[in-house]
Amino acid sequence: MTTLPGEAWVMPTYARFPVTLVGGDGVRVRDDEGRAYLDLVGGLGALSLGHAHPRWVDAVSRAAAGIGLTSNLFATPPQAALAGRLAGLLPVDDPRVFFCNSGAEANEAAIKLFRRRGLARGRPTIVVLEGSFHGRTSAALAATGQPAKRAPFEPLVDWFRFVPPNDEAALAGAFDAGDAGAVLVEPVLGEGGVIPLDAGYLRAARRLCDEHDALLGVDEVQSGIGRCGTWLAVEDAGVRPDVVAIAKALGGGLPIGALVARADVSFAPGEHASTFGGGPVPSAAALAVLDVVEEEGLLARIAEAGAVLASEIRRLAPAGTVAEVRGRGFLCGVRVAPGIEPQAVALAMLRRGVLASTAGADAVRFTPPFVATAADLDEGVKVLAEALEEVAP
Ligand code: PLP
Repeated sequence: MTTLPGEAWVMPTYARFPVTLVGGDGVRVRDDEGRAYLDLVGGLGALSLGHAHPRWVDAVSRAAAGIGLTSNLFATPPQAALAGRLAGLLPVDDPRVFFCNSGAEANEAAIKLFRRRGLARGRPTIVVLEGSFHGRTSAALAATGQPAKRAPFEPLVDWFRFVPPNDEAALAGAFDAGDAGAVLVEPVLGEGGVIPLDAGYLRAARRLCDEHDALLGVDEVQSGIGRCGTWLAVEDAGVRPDVVAIAKALGGGLPIGALVARADVSFAPGEHASTFGGGPVPSAAALAVLDVVEEEGLLARIAEAGAVLASEIRRLAPAGTVAEVRGRGFLCGVRVAPGIEPQAVALAMLRRGVLASTAGADAVRFTPPFVATAADLDEGVKVLAEALEEVAP
């Protein structure tokens, strides 16, 4: 790895891997020394079509050469088309779409919706989960159930009540004080360690929200837009949320997020805004992503290949190195046995030419591009097994 001029001035918010990436094609990337890697990080789940997918490149190039940005004072065909597509694909009744630029922003918008409605009804508290991750902006961070991430910034807004995930009684109890007007959950807790919520729990959340006239919001920034083998992970439970936050995979590498909400709880003119949100270029990129996912039948393939990935990891991991394989589709978390550092596993994989990330305190995470083949995933599993063998105590 060469030392890049200027790198010293980048704020060190991330503990970076010791590799500089300069090019990519499909699920492969290469570094500045010409070494190739299989990319199972995929831009932390954002690179749905992989690197430089021809359909995506073409859509982005055409949009950029057409009209790059109009602000949201003017309508554009790509944004309108994308809103229409999302309204047709996502399980929200009479939906309206607000476009923004990231997952945190989509959640900030959701939180503002919850607060406005909750304040009007005298129930402004939002119930969220311990171990959750909703982003790094102030309110999204306040909603994040990871105390260490919040600690340096406290006191944050006290709008949230935390309950443990997959505990129906605790969720029911969160309404006892009579001040809760919304619930916000990740159907698969991603950054928290890839922990799926049970279908029964999600259905109970829907029922409790209905009983208490509360809104059910799902943060599908990481799990949504196909990553779990359905457009939203919550679909598995047959649940229709009132509010959905999406981002990551939607743009296939360009920054776009969206809040999709029932029309009767949507923002009124002037209540929320974004200069760049849903600009023609990222909207065209997102349309290309949705087109390719549909035309190539990727949802079914992700569900199937993801199940094979999980079972192959269970089969090939050296005895005693893996405690649990969790997740769904192409959101896969490998909880390693005590004494094994997930970051050491990721580094050992990197040395063998495969990129992986970590999630929570004890999991190695795979978020492959949707175009990864069975052979790509097999290669990842083989290298994971070798890395586990190397770092196991
Ligand atoms: N919500 C979830 C579930 C996420 O996984 C993330 C990012 O990992 C975010 C929100 C924040 O998204 P962004 O980094 O685009 O702000």
